[in-house]
Amino acid sequence: MQRRRGDLLDVSGLKVVFDTYAGQVKALNGVELWMNHGERLGVVGETGCGKSVTALSVMRLIEEPGRITGGSILFEDRDLVLLPENVLNAIRGKDIAMIFQEPVAALNPVMKVGAQIVENIECQRKSAASVQASRKGGPASGNRPQGRVGVQRISSIQIMRDMLSHVGLDWQRTENLYPHELSGGMAQRVMIAMALSSKPKLLIADEPTSALDVTIQAQILNLLNSLVRETQTAVLLITHAMGVAAQFCDFIAVMYAGNVVEYGSIRVIFNNPLHPYTKGLLKAVPKIGKTDELQSIPGIVPDLIAPPDGCRFHPRCPYRRPECDKAQPRFEPARGEAETDRHHVACFLYQQDQ
Ligand code: SF4
Repeated sequence: MQRRRGDLLDVSGLKVVFDTYAGQVKALNGVELWMNHGERLGVVGETGCGKSVTALSVMRLIEEPGRITGGSILFEDRDLVLLPENVLNAIRGKDIAMIFQEPVAALNPVMKVGAQIVENIECQRKSAASVQASRKGGPASGNRPQGRVGVQRISSIQIMRDMLSHVGLDWQRTENLYPHELSGGMAQRVMIAMALSSKPKLLIADEPTSALDVTIQAQILNLLNSLVRETQTAVLLITHAMGVAAQFCDFIAVMYAGNVVEYGSIRVIFNNPLHPYTKGLLKAVPKIGKTDELQSIPGIVPDLIAPPDGCRFHPRCPYRRPECDKAQPRFEPARGEAETDRHHVACFLYQQDQ
């Protein structure tokens, strides 16, 4: 059995497919990533490489026609792939929270912002109570005295107001607004307030700033940065921007066509990238003060209904070798790196037995 790698999250060999009329989309092909409590991991790659599917899988939110077909998602001591829905409901939003790319679309359009946050807090309480009750073999606390319910409601309202203030919003004004009355930046602050109201152990942020203009992006990233440092919340940040990952994360997982092809600390990924795809991504990042033409990676992301055999990057790889289209390279520790960098790569150029 494989050694446990991260004490908070350890995703191993994760496979996800979507059965469509056009054929089966092999969206994740054995994803490997891990993180400890309080760490920030950036998942980067081009559109369509499986970043968001990975995030949704960790929340077990893959819906029909998608399904997880293999692998494990260890969250602390539990494998999320195997848990029943009622236990998952108690984990979602409580221990693992998520913020999305389009915050206004993620909010309920016909409910005031304050009421939505309060409802979220109360749902978490109910799910936790129901799981506790089922463990003890009794009914969920349905006969709870009315007075206690009232006290809990007041405390939920207070938490909502504290959270809105904490994310820099005037709660007196904001709690009574509907989502369409919020700017993009305000809506993302509301989402962050909602996500962090339950003090999650892991926050999944799926492109949280890409729908915002650049000045608001910086404000939201700074806010997120200070809040998660304060609460020691771990963050899984999905982004296509290497610069955002460099600014925010401790570790990076580079994804290509459903696989993590390279994983390691910010230091090794930016100073000593090994995988040809990571090198290509870094060359495509604009540098301040340099006016050279930006380099792009030739070719396009493959169709995952019929992905290339062997290494899925081989049709675009300038270093392709004869074995590259025959077998999938193993995801292995890179040679000679400090253990603290956790540097791993999936490429025949660095395979231990090559
Ligand atoms: Fe390129 Fe082969 Fe490495 Fe894939 S395994 S990245 S094709 S050298």
